Amino acid sequence: MVATSNSIGNSSGGVRVRFAPSPTGYLHVGGARTALFNWFFARRQGGTMILRVEDTDVERNRPELVEGILDGLRWLGVDWDEGPYFQSQRLDLHRAAAEKLAASGAAYFCDCPPEKYAGGDAVEETDDAKKEAGPRRVTRCACREGKAGLSVRNAAIRFRVPLGTTTKFDDAVFGPREVANEEIEDFVLLRSPKDGQEIGAPTYQLSAVVDDIDMRITHVIRGSDHISNTPKQALLYRALGATPPVFAHVPLILGPDRTRLSKRHGATSVGSYRDEGFLPEAFRNFLALLGWSPGEDAQFLRTLEIVARFSLEGVSRTNAVFDRAKLEWFNTEYLQKLPIDDLLPAVQAELERARLWQPEWAKEKREWFSKTVDLLRPRTRLLPDFSTWARAFFSDSFEYNPQAREKFWKDERLGSMLGKLADALVALPEWNHDACDHVLRELAAAEGVKAGLLINATRVAIVGQAVAPPLFETMVVLGQRPVVNRLRRAVEALGARIPPGETRGN
Ligand SMILES: [Zn+2]
Repeated sequence: MVATSNSIGNSSGGVRVRFAPSPTGYLHVGGARTALFNWFFARRQGGTMILRVEDTDVERNRPELVEGILDGLRWLGVDWDEGPYFQSQRLDLHRAAAEKLAASGAAYFCDCPPEKYAGGDAVEETDDAKKEAGPRRVTRCACREGKAGLSVRNAAIRFRVPLGTTTKFDDAVFGPREVANEEIEDFVLLRSPKDGQEIGAPTYQLSAVVDDIDMRITHVIRGSDHISNTPKQALLYRALGATPPVFAHVPLILGPDRTRLSKRHGATSVGSYRDEGFLPEAFRNFLALLGWSPGEDAQFLRTLEIVARFSLEGVSRTNAVFDRAKLEWFNTEYLQKLPIDDLLPAVQAELERARLWQPEWAKEKREWFSKTVDLLRPRTRLLPDFSTWARAFFSDSFEYNPQAREKFWKDERLGSMLGKLADALVALPEWNHDACDHVLRELAAAEGVKAGLLINATRVAIVGQAVAPPLFETMVVLGQRPVVNRLRRAVEALGARIPPGETRGN
């Protein structure tokens, strides 16, 4: 549902959180984790989840990315109760707030060149490094005291940081914070108008705070890279006559080398994990534990359990490390442990993608489908395993794995033996595990070969792979006619491989 800017919220109280992505890139792992933490918290508290697209950075903004971000959230299972709101449609509200602050003296006009603007825009990534070097010295421009000849027409609006005091806020994760106002620059609220503009563009600080107030956000849950913005925002809240929300800064996600997670560490977009075939619930479980702990050693936590346990107190201050092996472990766990009915839709989607899906598997042959997926899943790691490695379970059209063929079809007697096996199997009045087992072992004995030789060769013949579920269970789910046909096809394939010195007709 898309709401207009006039219809924000409802009159009830309670928790209201927002996820506020910028369409300057895809939905990355860090953003997804922030979205999830907001969502877990909203659902735990019976609150409202708001989606706000922060698309005011005209230069970096790419509107075509919005849909991809929303798709990523949907795949992740993050839904929202309000929005998406688009910040670019709310600029008048932001400008009005800046002008109101200028009129009240809480902000002032500044016509210094834009390159002299200090701070005030988005995240300052180098802030931590600067802080370690000791308290910052902030130079304030003369406009603050009413510079002579100031041209208001071309001016920006800067916030007038009250001096001689400190700014405090409570962070639900990092605890009480206090910053001397002397260290906070008079950040820009509204940039100076560009050529042809009547009025300038609001900055991130202004838009975010005005929207958070207007949307009655009670908890701002976001990455700890935003912690340096927070004193400025707390000041803005108070200047606008509003009480700041609860801030909760969640730890950063690092790569295995303990630097901030980036493309150097592999895929960082949520979409690439979807495309690789991870299960959304496994991905949620994995992301939930990047910076949050349920308070015990629990790892495998289904989403409803996470929601039931989620609290901001459980969020860690320690940066989390993105460990792909752990993510794969979660995926394998989910493939094996989910109730089968929860797994089937994901396998169906994968088979549809691979054009192997038959509608009857969701209807009259649903039980067969369920049984087959259950048989296969202990040997799967990612969803595409169902359409590649296990293709022969869902299609008659499959290739023999070259290594499997090389390894298990060496014996020259196999062509004749697989033919005899097909003849014996086609005559079976009942198709079940024990009957198949009996026929194969009896044939092996009669031919004077080990049953294993025939089992391995048959596996390659009927599923094309060296590794597959137990053979007789595989034969049962494939069915009598397909197994017999595939054995006969294998006899032909083996016959095509004419040993030297021997001739064979077609
Ligand atoms: Zn100035």
